[in-house]
Amino acid sequence: MNKTVEKIKQLVFSGDFSGNTKEEIFARCYKAVEKTLEITPFDQQLEAALALSEGKIVQMQTGEGKTLCAVFAACCHALNGGNVHVLTFNDYLAKRDCEWMKPVYDEMGVSVGCITEDTPREQRREIYLRQVVYITAKEAGFDYLKDFACFETEKMCFPKPDFAIFDEADSILIDEARIPLVIAGDVAVRENGSTAAVYGKIDCFSEGDYEFDEESRNIYLTDNGADKAEMIFSADNIYSEKNTGLLAKITACIKARDILQEDKDYIVKDGKIVLIDEFTGRAAAGRVFPGEVQSACEAKHGLKITSRGRIIGSIALQYFARLYPKISGMTGTAETSQEEFEKFYGMLTAIIPTRLPCKRIDHPVEIYFNGEEKRKAVVNAVKEAYEKKRPVLVGTESISESESLAEELMKIGIECKVLNAKNNFEEAGIIAKAGERGAVTISTNMAGRGVDIKLGGEDSSDKDFVVSVGGLLVIITSMRESSRIAQQLRGRAGRQGDVGESRFFAALDDEIMVKNGLKKLCGRHYPTEAFEGAVTDKTVLREAERIQRISESNAFDERVNLMKYTFIGEKHREMTFSKRNALLDGEYNSDMWQKYSPELYEKACEKFSKEAVAKLENEVLAALLNEFHSDYLDYTAYLREGIHLTQIAGRNPAEEYNIACEEYYESATKSVPERMGEKLEELVRCDKIEDYKIEKPTNLYTYLLNDMAEEFKAKPILLNVFSEDDDEESSSDTEQDGEKQGFFKKLFGKK
Ligand code: ADP
Ligand code: MG
Repeated sequence: MNKTVEKIKQLVFSGDFSGNTKEEIFARCYKAVEKTLEITPFDQQLEAALALSEGKIVQMQTGEGKTLCAVFAACCHALNGGNVHVLTFNDYLAKRDCEWMKPVYDEMGVSVGCITEDTPREQRREIYLRQVVYITAKEAGFDYLKDFACFETEKMCFPKPDFAIFDEADSILIDEARIPLVIAGDVAVRENGSTAAVYGKIDCFSEGDYEFDEESRNIYLTDNGADKAEMIFSADNIYSEKNTGLLAKITACIKARDILQEDKDYIVKDGKIVLIDEFTGRAAAGRVFPGEVQSACEAKHGLKITSRGRIIGSIALQYFARLYPKISGMTGTAETSQEEFEKFYGMLTAIIPTRLPCKRIDHPVEIYFNGEEKRKAVVNAVKEAYEKKRPVLVGTESISESESLAEELMKIGIECKVLNAKNNFEEAGIIAKAGERGAVTISTNMAGRGVDIKLGGEDSSDKDFVVSVGGLLVIITSMRESSRIAQQLRGRAGRQGDVGESRFFAALDDEIMVKNGLKKLCGRHYPTEAFEGAVTDKTVLREAERIQRISESNAFDERVNLMKYTFIGEKHREMTFSKRNALLDGEYNSDMWQKYSPELYEKACEKFSKEAVAKLENEVLAALLNEFHSDYLDYTAYLREGIHLTQIAGRNPAEEYNIACEEYYESATKSVPERMGEKLEELVRCDKIEDYKIEKPTNLYTYLLNDMAEEFKAKPILLNVFSEDDDEESSSDTEQDGEKQGFFKKLFGKK
């Protein structure tokens, strides 16, 4: 047994634990759990809790009781004067876990609360003051961003980040890490032509007019297509700078029409396009496609084109996580991503063994000739289990696959429940019942994650029967980018020493196999004629497994590469945000007006009083910083369009991008005093100080850009044509401080 765990238990038995050392707090917490929840924490849970409070990523299998582990680490930090955010996978879990664990916190004298999407902003302020807050990373991130649009410190609500515990850490810190949270406000909206009008004119674009790059999921016009575009839209050169917006609209419209699929990539609900999250398989409310694609999609379905205003601020989840001086996380699947946790977040992984030996049988991947054969095998596997009344959970790739499979099963008389974006709310209830006799549950990847599946129903009353037929059978219908997804699904079965089984299906023509070149890897072993049953050729099986590793390492490289482009923006955001906060806090006062023109400044002070002018000046500067940052975001988005980068071919694109951002930031900073001066001139022309209006957003919108990586992927593709060597990258950055410099250097230093 771990020495510290041993010591904690000794303290528990001796009853002598009134102090505030980690061991004493853990012992007190142990007692509080026994008293309030009437369960006894396992040694493994204490071990995991210790790792959490040391800032590690804890791998602990599904159903082993991670929710409780977080409480120990949270109490320990809170009782030493800190505040803690437990960042949950979704709103349902934030609420559930907070309510579930509240008695323990109460007993420990630690205040706790939860915030979900529908918690009003006025209440949030109060809840954030509590020592421990359960909330999703997205909600927390949005609150952080929204403060950037506040003009009074009293109205700001996000506290100084301190310690965050990420539940389902791999999902947030890896899979969703690059997703930027965005806030937009309806100030100075720049309408530059209607996407609907463009959509109405793309009828004549057909296959030969564009190319779709499978890998980057980007559309490029061919020469033919470019000629057509120039004719239809009367443009002299579609690639010229002034037509950038138009070109983006055209490609977005073609993409919406030919590439994006309803029910796979998005659903149409209440007259809106709602994206489907690739990883969770659920509708991501409020999430939109990047750039023009959202509007193009709206045009495709004849919906009202939504105005989202101007972007005020954005932060990718991984950078949001890095705002916390201390983070830790827990998940059922961390082992295969250890390197990434360490590299991106400096976190070590602790692997906690299961309390009871795992009895689940995991079968190796079964590969079929094509999707049709695979489907037959999946249906058979379900049927076989259903006939024995054995519960089955099928994990599919998309909503449309879930639905077509359900339909097929219904036809042969198999009742099943479908878990997907369309019945979001019942999800938790359905998944909790997935272990009942005869239950067939079909779900997209991680729907219902975090909810326990008990054998024999929620109260386990029928457990003996379900055990007698082999426990829960998990069926995975395809290989995904990361093996973690399959591993997560497998973990649904065989919890806490239960029996269970998992089967994993794939087809030679699955997208992942084709995209990563299985055929080439297999050479002459690749089957050319249809056959029944699963592949037995060892080479094919081995290469198929290799595909999984290839796709994982591609995804990893892509994330590293992406970071080379996003890091600088985060640095600049931080600089702008903290300057703005300091102004509103009164920590720092602007003297730009006085410097710009002492005469005008005197005049303003005489007219409106010195104090009033000083207060206004700070506010005006804060508003200007908002404008400044929005301009910066516009500019960098423009840079990322990729097309422009053909001009810097031969040089390192990431470095060039960073230099361009830095130059822009510097020159924009230099223009601030001048811009402030113009405002002073406006002010002295006013009769009353109230007549001077600061432009502030009246409405805020929040959304997630689903995949910023798309924008960046275009670049190397364009550049590789010209440049032989993209890999020799050196740091272009010299202004970073301390730890972050090391991080940045490492990032650029690596291939
Ligand atoms: P995880 O997040 O690791 O998947 P949960 O925290 O959801 O697991 O807990 C799974 C189940 O285990 C819950 O029903 C919980 O009540 C139960 N559980 C957790 N810890 C204990 C314990 N020490 N003794 C008995 N039951 C426990
Ligand atoms: Mg959990």
